[in-house]
Amino acid sequence: MGVSTRVKQYAVKAVWRTLQGEGAWSGRAAVFVRFVGCNLWSGYEADRTRDAERSGADCPLWCDTDFTKEGATRFTAEALATEMQRVGGPIRFCVLTGGEPLLQADAALIDSLHAAGFEVAVETNGTVTLADAFTDVDDTLVPPDWIVCSPKLPEDRLVLEHCDELKLVVPDYRPEDYTSFAERVRPHTVGGRKRQWLWLQPEDGPRLADATALAVETTLAHPAWRVSVQTHKVLGVE
Ligand code: SF4
Repeated sequence: MGVSTRVKQYAVKAVWRTLQGEGAWSGRAAVFVRFVGCNLWSGYEADRTRDAERSGADCPLWCDTDFTKEGATRFTAEALATEMQRVGGPIRFCVLTGGEPLLQADAALIDSLHAAGFEVAVETNGTVTLADAFTDVDDTLVPPDWIVCSPKLPEDRLVLEHCDELKLVVPDYRPEDYTSFAERVRPHTVGGRKRQWLWLQPEDGPRLADATALAVETTLAHPAWRVSVQTHKVLGVE
C-alpha cells in the first residue's frame, strides 16, 4: 500500500507589491500576503453582530478587510514563495497579514520564505502563540523575523509571547489598558538606547479627525508611545 504524503497548502486571498505604510518599516517596499480567515470574525456581513458577541471583540462590527475564501488561491509553501518573488521582483521584505495570519502561517512557510531570501514580518491580533504557529516537526521554533501585534481583545486574553511593535487603534484601544502586555514588546537599540516600538494608530473613517487628536494628546501624556501615520494613504498607494 502506498504512503500518501499530503503537502500543506495555504489559502491566500491576495499577494501584492506595495509600501509598508505603518510602523517601524513605514515607507519600505514590501510584498504583502493576505491569508484567508480570522478567529474573531467569519468575514461575512451577516455574522458581524454574532461574531462580535462570540469573540468579545468590537472589530467584527467595523472590520473592512476582505479575507473570505471566495476568490482565494491555494499555494504550497514553495509555490507561495515563488509567487511572491514573481510579484515583488527585487523586493525581499514581506508582510504576512489577514485576517489572522497565524492561523495558517507555520514553520515550513517561514523556512521556504527564508530560503527564497525574504525577511518575514507578520501582523497578528495576538490571540495565537508563536509556539503553536511556528514550532516545526522537530520541535524547533522557526518564528518570523518581525512581529507586529494590533490587539482587538483585552490584554488578559492575549497569548502572543512577544512582539516587536505594539499598535493600538485609538479611540477604542488605550495604552492604560495594555500596560502589562506592552512589557512583551522586545526592545530594539536605536541611537544607542533600547527602545520599544509602541504606536497609537488613529482609526480611519468617520472618526479619523477625533481619533487623530486623541492619539496626539495621548502621546503627549504618554511619551513612550508614538502616533502612527498611515503613510500609504497619504501617498495614495494601495
Ligand atoms: S482581528 Fe483584524 S482581521 Fe480579524 S476581524 Fe478583527 S480587525 Fe478584522
